[in-house]
Amino acid sequence: MSVTQVEDRIYLIDAETAGIKGFIASYVLKGKHVAMVETGPTSSVPNLLTGLRKLGIKAEDIAYIAVSHIHLDHAGGVGTLIKHLPNAKVIVHPRGAPHLAHPEKLWEQSKLVLGSITELYDAPEPVPENRVIAATDGMTFDLGNGMNLKVVETVGHASHHQSYYESGSQAMFPGDTAGIYLGEIDTIVPTTPPPLRMDLVLIALDRLASMKPRNLLYSHFGKASNAVEKLRAYAGQLKLWARIAKQGLDSKEDLATISKRIVESDLAFKRALDYVKVHPVLGETVLGNSVQGVVDFVEKFGVPE
Ligand SMILES: [Zn+2]
Repeated sequence: MSVTQVEDRIYLIDAETAGIKGFIASYVLKGKHVAMVETGPTSSVPNLLTGLRKLGIKAEDIAYIAVSHIHLDHAGGVGTLIKHLPNAKVIVHPRGAPHLAHPEKLWEQSKLVLGSITELYDAPEPVPENRVIAATDGMTFDLGNGMNLKVVETVGHASHHQSYYESGSQAMFPGDTAGIYLGEIDTIVPTTPPPLRMDLVLIALDRLASMKPRNLLYSHFGKASNAVEKLRAYAGQLKLWARIAKQGLDSKEDLATISKRIVESDLAFKRALDYVKVHPVLGETVLGNSVQGVVDFVEKFGVPE
Protein backbone atom coordinates (compact mmCIF):
# COMPACT_ATOMS: atom_id res chain seq x y z
CA MET A 1 0.00 0.00 0.00
CA SER A 2 1.53 3.32 -1.05
CA VAL A 3 0.74 6.93 -0.19
CA THR A 4 1.90 9.69 -2.55
CA GLN A 5 1.68 13.46 -2.23
CA VAL A 6 0.05 14.86 -5.38
CA GLU A 7 -0.58 18.51 -4.40
CA ASP A 8 0.48 20.73 -1.49
CA ARG A 9 -2.16 19.24 0.80
CA ILE A 10 -3.57 16.38 -1.24
CA TYR A 11 -2.41 12.77 -0.97
CA LEU A 12 -3.20 9.68 -3.01
CA ILE A 13 -3.70 6.35 -1.26
CA ASP A 14 -3.40 3.47 -3.69
CA ALA A 15 -6.39 1.31 -2.72
CA GLU A 16 -4.61 -1.72 -4.19
CA THR A 17 -7.93 -3.48 -4.56
CA ALA A 18 -7.38 -7.25 -4.55
CA GLY A 19 -3.66 -6.51 -4.83
CA ILE A 20 -4.03 -4.56 -8.10
CA LYS A 21 -1.71 -1.56 -7.93
CA GLY A 22 -2.30 1.68 -9.81
CA PHE A 23 -5.97 0.98 -10.51
CA ILE A 24 -8.14 2.66 -7.86
CA ALA A 25 -7.14 5.88 -6.12
CA SER A 26 -8.53 7.37 -2.93
CA TYR A 27 -7.53 10.98 -2.28
CA VAL A 28 -7.04 12.63 1.09
CA LEU A 29 -7.39 16.42 1.35
CA LYS A 30 -5.63 17.64 4.45
CA GLY A 31 -7.56 20.75 5.35
CA LYS A 32 -8.38 21.68 8.92
CA HIS A 33 -11.28 19.37 8.24
CA VAL A 34 -10.02 16.36 6.34
CA ALA A 35 -11.90 15.13 3.27
CA MET A 36 -11.50 12.01 1.19
CA VAL A 37 -12.49 11.63 -2.45
CA GLU A 38 -13.46 8.05 -3.47
CA THR A 39 -13.08 4.95 -1.34
CA GLY A 40 -12.75 2.11 -3.80
CA PRO A 41 -14.69 -1.07 -2.98
CA THR A 42 -15.22 -2.79 0.38
CA SER A 43 -12.14 -4.98 -0.04
CA SER A 44 -9.90 -1.86 -0.13
CA VAL A 45 -10.94 -0.43 3.23
CA PRO A 46 -8.08 -2.01 5.28
CA ASN A 47 -5.59 -0.39 2.87
CA LEU A 48 -7.30 2.99 3.20
CA LEU A 49 -7.11 2.79 7.00
CA THR A 50 -3.40 1.94 6.79
CA GLY A 51 -2.93 4.90 4.44
CA LEU A 52 -4.71 7.28 6.81
CA ARG A 53 -2.51 6.07 9.68
CA LYS A 54 0.60 6.62 7.56
CA LEU A 55 -0.56 10.19 6.95
CA GLY A 56 -0.99 10.71 10.69
CA ILE A 57 -4.68 11.45 10.31
CA LYS A 58 -6.96 10.71 13.24
CA ALA A 59 -10.23 8.98 12.40
CA GLU A 60 -12.25 11.72 14.13
CA ASP A 61 -10.67 14.49 11.99
CA ILE A 62 -12.24 13.23 8.79
CA ALA A 63 -15.29 15.36 8.04
CA TYR A 64 -16.26 14.24 4.52
CA ILE A 65 -16.03 11.31 2.17
CA ALA A 66 -16.97 12.53 -1.31
CA VAL A 67 -17.76 9.94 -3.97
CA SER A 68 -18.09 10.65 -7.69
CA HIS A 69 -20.78 8.02 -8.17
CA ILE A 70 -22.00 4.86 -6.53
CA HIS A 71 -20.33 2.20 -8.72
CA LEU A 72 -18.53 -0.29 -6.48
CA ASP A 73 -15.02 0.67 -7.60
CA HIS A 74 -15.67 4.25 -6.39
CA ALA A 75 -18.02 4.04 -3.43
CA GLY A 76 -18.52 0.36 -2.61
CA GLY A 77 -16.35 0.70 0.51
CA VAL A 78 -18.00 3.77 1.97
CA GLY A 79 -20.38 1.90 4.30
CA THR A 80 -17.52 -0.12 5.80
CA LEU A 81 -15.13 2.83 5.99
CA ILE A 82 -17.55 5.17 7.73
CA LYS A 83 -17.87 2.76 10.67
CA HIS A 84 -14.27 3.72 11.48
CA LEU A 85 -14.75 7.48 10.99
CA PRO A 86 -17.12 8.78 13.71
CA ASN A 87 -17.55 12.33 12.34
CA ALA A 88 -17.54 11.74 8.59
CA LYS A 89 -20.44 12.50 6.26
CA VAL A 90 -20.71 11.09 2.77
CA ILE A 91 -21.14 13.53 -0.15
CA VAL A 92 -22.98 11.95 -3.08
CA HIS A 93 -25.26 12.88 -6.00
CA PRO A 94 -28.93 12.96 -4.89
CA ARG A 95 -29.78 10.11 -7.27
CA GLY A 96 -27.02 7.98 -5.73
CA ALA A 97 -27.92 8.67 -2.09
CA PRO A 98 -30.71 6.06 -1.71
CA HIS A 99 -28.39 3.32 -3.03
CA LEU A 100 -25.77 4.03 -0.39
CA ALA A 101 -28.36 3.59 2.36
CA HIS A 102 -29.81 0.46 0.70
CA PRO A 103 -27.05 -1.12 -1.39
CA GLU A 104 -28.63 -4.57 -1.94
CA LYS A 105 -30.04 -3.78 -5.39
CA LEU A 106 -26.80 -2.17 -6.48
CA TRP A 107 -24.89 -5.29 -5.44
CA GLU A 108 -27.25 -7.60 -7.35
CA GLN A 109 -27.02 -5.44 -10.48
CA SER A 110 -23.23 -5.21 -10.20
CA LYS A 111 -22.98 -9.00 -10.10
CA LEU A 112 -25.01 -9.18 -13.30
CA VAL A 113 -22.91 -6.56 -15.11
CA LEU A 114 -19.44 -7.31 -13.73
CA GLY A 115 -19.69 -11.05 -13.06
CA SER A 116 -16.64 -12.47 -11.29
CA ILE A 117 -15.03 -9.00 -10.97
CA THR A 118 -17.39 -8.38 -8.02
CA GLU A 119 -15.49 -11.10 -6.11
CA LEU A 120 -12.50 -8.74 -6.10
CA TYR A 121 -14.68 -5.97 -4.68
CA ASP A 122 -16.90 -7.62 -1.98
CA ALA A 123 -20.45 -6.58 -1.12
CA PRO A 124 -21.12 -2.98 -0.04
CA GLU A 125 -22.42 -2.29 3.48
CA PRO A 126 -25.19 0.29 4.02
CA VAL A 127 -24.41 3.88 5.05
CA PRO A 128 -26.75 5.20 7.80
CA GLU A 129 -29.09 7.74 6.18
CA ASN A 130 -28.19 10.48 8.66
CA ARG A 131 -24.56 10.29 7.49
CA VAL A 132 -25.38 11.01 3.83
CA ILE A 133 -25.36 14.48 2.24
CA ALA A 134 -27.23 14.48 -1.09
CA ALA A 135 -25.14 17.26 -2.63
CA THR A 136 -26.25 19.31 -5.61
CA ASP A 137 -24.26 21.13 -8.26
CA GLY A 138 -22.24 24.08 -6.95
CA MET A 139 -22.37 23.10 -3.28
CA THR A 140 -19.01 23.94 -1.72
CA PHE A 141 -17.52 22.45 1.41
CA ASP A 142 -15.01 24.60 3.30
CA LEU A 143 -12.18 22.41 4.56
CA GLY A 144 -10.17 25.22 6.17
CA ASN A 145 -6.47 25.90 5.49
CA GLY A 146 -7.56 27.56 2.22
CA MET A 147 -9.11 24.40 0.82
CA ASN A 148 -12.58 24.05 -0.68
CA LEU A 149 -14.32 21.12 -2.28
CA LYS A 150 -16.90 22.11 -4.88
CA VAL A 151 -19.47 19.78 -6.44
CA VAL A 152 -19.60 19.87 -10.25
CA GLU A 153 -22.46 17.77 -11.58
CA THR A 154 -21.23 15.65 -14.49
CA VAL A 155 -23.86 13.07 -15.36
CA GLY A 156 -23.36 10.89 -18.43
CA HIS A 157 -21.05 8.06 -17.34
CA ALA A 158 -23.88 7.45 -14.88
CA SER A 159 -27.03 9.41 -14.07
CA HIS A 160 -25.69 9.92 -10.55
CA HIS A 161 -22.19 11.17 -11.37
CA GLN A 162 -20.48 14.28 -10.11
CA SER A 163 -16.93 15.61 -10.14
CA TYR A 164 -15.18 17.72 -7.50
CA TYR A 165 -12.97 20.78 -7.76
CA GLU A 166 -10.49 21.90 -5.14
CA SER A 167 -9.92 25.60 -5.71
CA GLY A 168 -6.79 26.01 -3.54
CA SER A 169 -4.73 23.73 -5.77
CA GLN A 170 -6.93 24.10 -8.89
CA ALA A 171 -7.20 20.34 -9.02
CA MET A 172 -10.15 18.53 -10.57
CA PHE A 173 -11.37 15.11 -9.47
CA PRO A 174 -13.23 14.03 -12.61
CA GLY A 175 -14.32 10.59 -11.32
CA ASP A 176 -15.09 8.50 -14.41
CA THR A 177 -16.11 11.46 -16.60
CA ALA A 178 -12.65 11.89 -18.14
CA GLY A 179 -11.84 8.23 -18.82
CA ILE A 180 -9.18 5.99 -17.36
CA TYR A 181 -5.68 7.45 -17.31
CA LEU A 182 -2.83 4.98 -17.70
CA GLY A 183 0.02 7.07 -16.34
CA GLU A 184 2.75 4.57 -17.19
CA ILE A 185 2.06 5.05 -20.89
CA ASP A 186 0.43 8.51 -20.63
CA THR A 187 -2.71 7.27 -22.37
CA ILE A 188 -6.45 7.60 -21.75
CA VAL A 189 -8.94 4.80 -22.44
CA PRO A 190 -12.72 5.19 -22.30
CA THR A 191 -14.87 4.07 -19.41
CA THR A 192 -18.29 4.12 -21.05
CA PRO A 193 -20.38 1.14 -19.90
CA PRO A 194 -24.14 1.03 -20.59
CA PRO A 195 -26.35 2.92 -19.98
CA LEU A 196 -24.06 5.65 -21.32
CA ARG A 197 -25.22 9.15 -22.23
CA MET A 198 -22.28 10.22 -24.37
CA ASP A 199 -23.96 13.52 -25.27
CA LEU A 200 -24.02 14.42 -21.57
CA VAL A 201 -20.43 13.24 -21.02
CA LEU A 202 -19.33 15.60 -23.81
CA ILE A 203 -21.19 18.50 -22.18
CA ALA A 204 -19.57 17.58 -18.86
CA LEU A 205 -16.09 17.48 -20.40
CA ASP A 206 -16.64 20.97 -21.87
CA ARG A 207 -17.76 22.18 -18.50
CA LEU A 208 -14.74 20.75 -16.67
CA ALA A 209 -12.40 22.22 -19.31
CA SER A 210 -14.06 25.65 -18.98
CA MET A 211 -13.08 25.70 -15.31
CA LYS A 212 -9.43 25.51 -16.43
CA PRO A 213 -8.11 23.09 -13.81
CA ARG A 214 -4.34 22.74 -13.58
CA ASN A 215 -4.26 19.04 -12.82
CA LEU A 216 -6.61 16.10 -13.06
CA LEU A 217 -6.67 13.66 -10.16
CA TYR A 218 -8.14 10.57 -11.79
CA SER A 219 -9.90 7.87 -9.77
CA HIS A 220 -8.31 5.49 -12.29
CA PHE A 221 -5.51 6.49 -11.73
CA GLY A 222 -3.43 9.32 -10.37
CA LYS A 223 -2.35 12.82 -11.25
CA ALA A 224 -2.00 14.22 -14.74
CA SER A 225 -1.00 17.71 -15.81
CA ASN A 226 -2.22 19.47 -19.01
CA ALA A 227 -5.72 18.95 -17.70
CA VAL A 228 -7.64 20.90 -20.35
CA GLU A 229 -5.74 19.22 -23.17
CA LYS A 230 -6.53 15.79 -21.71
CA LEU A 231 -10.24 16.58 -21.30
CA ARG A 232 -10.44 17.69 -24.94
CA ALA A 233 -8.48 14.68 -26.17
CA TYR A 234 -10.89 12.37 -24.36
CA ALA A 235 -13.88 14.10 -25.98
CA GLY A 236 -12.24 13.54 -29.37
CA GLN A 237 -11.62 9.89 -28.57
CA LEU A 238 -15.28 9.33 -27.60
CA LYS A 239 -16.49 10.93 -30.84
CA LEU A 240 -14.13 8.71 -32.84
CA TRP A 241 -15.51 5.60 -31.10
CA ALA A 242 -19.05 6.82 -31.84
CA ARG A 243 -18.30 7.27 -35.56
CA ILE A 244 -16.80 3.78 -35.78
CA ALA A 245 -19.77 2.32 -33.90
CA LYS A 246 -22.13 4.01 -36.38
CA GLN A 247 -20.28 2.59 -39.39
CA GLY A 248 -20.29 -0.83 -37.72
CA LEU A 249 -24.01 -0.68 -36.99
CA ASP A 250 -24.75 0.46 -40.55
CA SER A 251 -22.90 -2.56 -41.95
CA LYS A 252 -24.35 -4.93 -39.32
CA GLU A 253 -21.03 -5.75 -37.67
CA ASP A 254 -20.98 -7.56 -34.33
CA LEU A 255 -19.42 -6.15 -31.16
CA ALA A 256 -16.12 -8.00 -31.61
CA THR A 257 -15.67 -6.58 -35.12
CA ILE A 258 -16.48 -3.05 -33.96
CA SER A 259 -13.99 -3.48 -31.08
CA LYS A 260 -11.35 -4.60 -33.54
CA ARG A 261 -11.93 -1.61 -35.80
CA ILE A 262 -11.73 0.73 -32.80
CA VAL A 263 -8.34 -0.73 -31.93
CA GLU A 264 -7.16 -0.24 -35.52
CA SER A 265 -8.36 3.39 -35.74
CA ASP A 266 -7.66 4.73 -32.24
CA LEU A 267 -3.88 5.04 -31.95
CA ALA A 268 -3.99 5.91 -28.24
CA PHE A 269 -6.11 2.88 -27.55
CA LYS A 270 -3.87 0.67 -29.66
CA ARG A 271 -0.95 1.81 -27.49
CA ALA A 272 -2.92 0.85 -24.37
CA LEU A 273 -4.08 -2.51 -25.61
CA ASP A 274 -1.26 -4.66 -24.26
CA TYR A 275 -1.73 -3.08 -20.84
CA VAL A 276 -5.51 -3.37 -20.89
CA LYS A 277 -5.67 -6.93 -22.22
CA VAL A 278 -3.80 -8.50 -19.31
CA HIS A 279 -5.38 -6.30 -16.61
CA PRO A 280 -7.62 -8.32 -14.25
CA VAL A 281 -10.45 -5.77 -14.49
CA LEU A 282 -9.87 -3.53 -17.50
CA GLY A 283 -9.58 -6.41 -19.99
CA GLU A 284 -13.25 -7.14 -19.45
CA THR A 285 -14.65 -3.71 -18.70
CA VAL A 286 -12.93 -1.62 -21.38
CA LEU A 287 -12.89 -4.01 -24.34
CA GLY A 288 -16.35 -5.35 -23.55
CA ASN A 289 -18.51 -2.95 -21.54
CA SER A 290 -17.07 0.35 -22.80
CA VAL A 291 -17.52 -0.58 -26.46
CA GLN A 292 -21.01 -1.91 -25.69
CA GLY A 293 -21.97 1.37 -24.01
CA VAL A 294 -20.90 3.42 -27.03
CA VAL A 295 -22.65 1.07 -29.49
CA ASP A 296 -25.89 1.15 -27.46
CA PHE A 297 -25.74 4.94 -27.23
CA VAL A 298 -25.20 5.42 -30.98
CA GLU A 299 -27.95 2.95 -31.81
CA LYS A 300 -30.38 5.00 -29.71
CA PHE A 301 -29.23 8.57 -30.17
CA GLY A 302 -26.85 8.64 -33.18
CA VAL A 303 -23.36 10.14 -33.31
CA PRO A 304 -23.08 13.23 -31.07
CA GLU A 305 -21.69 16.45 -32.60
ZN1 LIG B 1 -14.67 3.48 -12.18
